[in-house]
Amino acid sequence: MKIVDIKTHILDFKLDTAFESASMRFDRRQHLLVEVECDNGLVGWGECLGPAAMNAAVIEGYKNRLLGRDPLQTEVIWIDLYHTFRDQGQRGLSITALSGIDIALWDIKGKFFDAPISTLLGGRFRDSVNAYATGSFKRDGVDRISDVVAEAKRYKAEGFGATKMKIGFNLEEDLELIREVRAAVGPDMKLMIDANHGYQVDEAIELGKRAYQYGIDWFEEPVVPEWLDAYREVKERQPIPVAGGETWHSRWGMLEPLRQRVVSIIQPDVCGVGGFTEFRRVVDLAQTLGIRVVPHVWGTAVQIAASLQAHATIAPAPVRQQPLDAMFEFDRTENPFRQAVVKKPIEHKNGVIEIPNSPGLGIEINREALEEFALK
Ligand SMILES: [Mg+2]
Repeated sequence: MKIVDIKTHILDFKLDTAFESASMRFDRRQHLLVEVECDNGLVGWGECLGPAAMNAAVIEGYKNRLLGRDPLQTEVIWIDLYHTFRDQGQRGLSITALSGIDIALWDIKGKFFDAPISTLLGGRFRDSVNAYATGSFKRDGVDRISDVVAEAKRYKAEGFGATKMKIGFNLEEDLELIREVRAAVGPDMKLMIDANHGYQVDEAIELGKRAYQYGIDWFEEPVVPEWLDAYREVKERQPIPVAGGETWHSRWGMLEPLRQRVVSIIQPDVCGVGGFTEFRRVVDLAQTLGIRVVPHVWGTAVQIAASLQAHATIAPAPVRQQPLDAMFEFDRTENPFRQAVVKKPIEHKNGVIEIPNSPGLGIEINREALEEFALK
């Protein structure tokens, strides 16, 4: 079997209402799917985290090294592509682009061996996951507090047992938001906060100290990812567990944060950290050091399907009668093509998602949706 073609699909939609995290503004949704085709007709799909057009450009750069290769040689291909851009690309787009390719190759491998990717990776520790609702961004033209409170109540009514809200805008307003959301959803729903690296270190410490009373499960990306010393300070000087890792790419990008224990929870994204090939290494590294893994997920149903396969393979740590919940991030913000790209949408029921059990990623692509939402 040989790779004969690689295509990228930039999907695009202009949002009715723009929204913001502390560090980014979204007035469009754009995500990149990767399609790898083989000479025997097998096709694999992947997705890249991050700017779609730039990921597509990097994949174009990888293409010549992929055509004619055996797609089952995932490890060999990963090392070869990493080496291609090593001198200028140890982190960032070279790894997010490589992630999309690696996922597509694993999808092909699963279809070739007629098994889900999780089976090929050693088997699954779970057949379903508890999802948490990701949303609660700052939306244009509405009152932030009442809007996010209504959103959190909606998630609770849908059956979610947990939700994560966006902070990192303004310390006092962020604290008011956390207090109001907790009051609205009651004591039983798990709440997490994500500053998208919007705070200075002293602000993050103050917020953590004052938000602790509202029962927060984790405090995500308090400060910019380059500041490992600041991460450590936040972790040591306020009581909420610190999470991070969606922008640390590859085993080498993950190594120092893990070794220095600057987070309590590491959040690798299979579409950013280097695909399945690298995700498993990062999970091994984290679990060797005793750090909890709760992956980051943000994209279309292709990314969700890949993340579900990856999630299934994360061993409970520690193994015990009632293991820590392997929570699954489930984006609920506006994105009309998120589920349209697959024939059978991946949905939750009462906050629980079943992990697909058919070959590869376990999805079938809806090509009409790819055309409808193609960047024009
Ligand atoms: Mg985040």
